Amino acid sequence: MELNLFNTQSRQCEAIVLEPQKPFKTYCCGPTVYGPAHIGNFRTYVVQDVLVRLLKLLKVNVCYVRNITDVDDKTIRGARQNNQSLQEFTTYWTQRFHNDCERLNLLPPTVEPKATETIDDQLALIQLLMDNGYAYARNGSVYFRISACKDYGKLSHLNERELQTQDLNSAEQANDADEYERDQIADFALWKAYKPEDGTVAWNSPWGRGRPGWHTECSAMTHRYLGGTLDVHSGGVDLVFPHHENEIAQFESAYKVPFVKHWLHIAHLRVNGQKMSKKLGNLYTLDSLQEQHYEPSTVRYALIAGHYRKPLNFTFENLNAAQSALHKIYAYTQTLCKQLSVDFANLPALLQQATLPDHLQWLQPFFDALLHDDLNTPKALGCLFSFMGQHPQLSLDEAKTVFPEWLAVLYALGIQPVEQRISIPADIQELAEKRWQCKCSGDYQAADNLRKALMDKGWRVLDNAQGYRIEPL
Ligand SMILES: [Zn+2]
Repeated sequence: MELNLFNTQSRQCEAIVLEPQKPFKTYCCGPTVYGPAHIGNFRTYVVQDVLVRLLKLLKVNVCYVRNITDVDDKTIRGARQNNQSLQEFTTYWTQRFHNDCERLNLLPPTVEPKATETIDDQLALIQLLMDNGYAYARNGSVYFRISACKDYGKLSHLNERELQTQDLNSAEQANDADEYERDQIADFALWKAYKPEDGTVAWNSPWGRGRPGWHTECSAMTHRYLGGTLDVHSGGVDLVFPHHENEIAQFESAYKVPFVKHWLHIAHLRVNGQKMSKKLGNLYTLDSLQEQHYEPSTVRYALIAGHYRKPLNFTFENLNAAQSALHKIYAYTQTLCKQLSVDFANLPALLQQATLPDHLQWLQPFFDALLHDDLNTPKALGCLFSFMGQHPQLSLDEAKTVFPEWLAVLYALGIQPVEQRISIPADIQELAEKRWQCKCSGDYQAADNLRKALMDKGWRVLDNAQGYRIEPL
């Protein structure tokens, strides 16, 4: 079994060989919990979720770690502004994040460590780097020495000159006096010495009181919970440099094994063609979209309707399209269930046990797009809709063979169908009835005109041996 996925480091699609007995180690950089996560953050987690779901369908033994960053400048500032302890403040936002994840039907990670719970691991990592000459202490802070790491920049493909400029720019923007304590401008902090604005947030270390740098936590956690080399490490594309580059440098310098086989980066999300920002008032959250009557399931669908490597333009038009696509999938599921006398209420339990059938008869193109074409969700959805279009009605025998494949599709996409109770307006019902009578009496021209009239009003008529049914377009 293989999975073809683009690798940021090699800049090409590569086959990942899946061995069901071997643990598959995957790590995704999680949220910093200081406020509500916006839908751009969730794009990464939804794509990672589809990957994990596919692996589970293939009975791969997935070990999935996603961290919670619960200590940094933003969390410390937020706690102070709210007159709360760091723990109270971050616990609240972590719960809100979990609530959003549940509403988006994201599978929980196998382990979800918090930065503040792994301080010892981070100190051990820093100590190892100090012992091996990769780090140095300055006034209570510890920095990673980039010049000691010969292949620094291999993920982002930045050469030394570019590194200097990139970092100078960010240093200037941050206007952080600490930056000038470093031997080289590109060196980054592994441990940050205590500052008065940190309040009560500090831990003891051999270099004085302080707190770990953000990059330190991910390398320490991957080592603690996943051990050696990871199969897939994912995150938003904005993390490639410097965060992931620094994770590699720390891990490989300390533990002397390759950090990651495959890097998966998810492109940005734009809203109505613009960058999301508080200033522009287009920073959507699940709550703000739900206030406008868009369910989290619709948001989830809209997030996978585009390919993860391309920037996704999030518009209300796309949300409406997602809503209508989901309704079609729900209706198809409902018809299948009815035909096979499957209780709709049992669907969640059936989805839990879904696996990918060995021989796919109907939906092979759907899974080919995901497994062999770089997790191509838009292409897969296209295949799904052509399947539905080509098979609006199934015989009982056909439905029986489609059903397990259909369950696997729903599971892979993380779609949890809800029962459709469509109320058909009386005038639509009347038109449809009139059309049926025309058809039965052989007046096909009139029947066809009425069918078109229904289409114009947003309804489709489907005939079968027993009669007809109506569904929204
Ligand atoms: Zn990270």
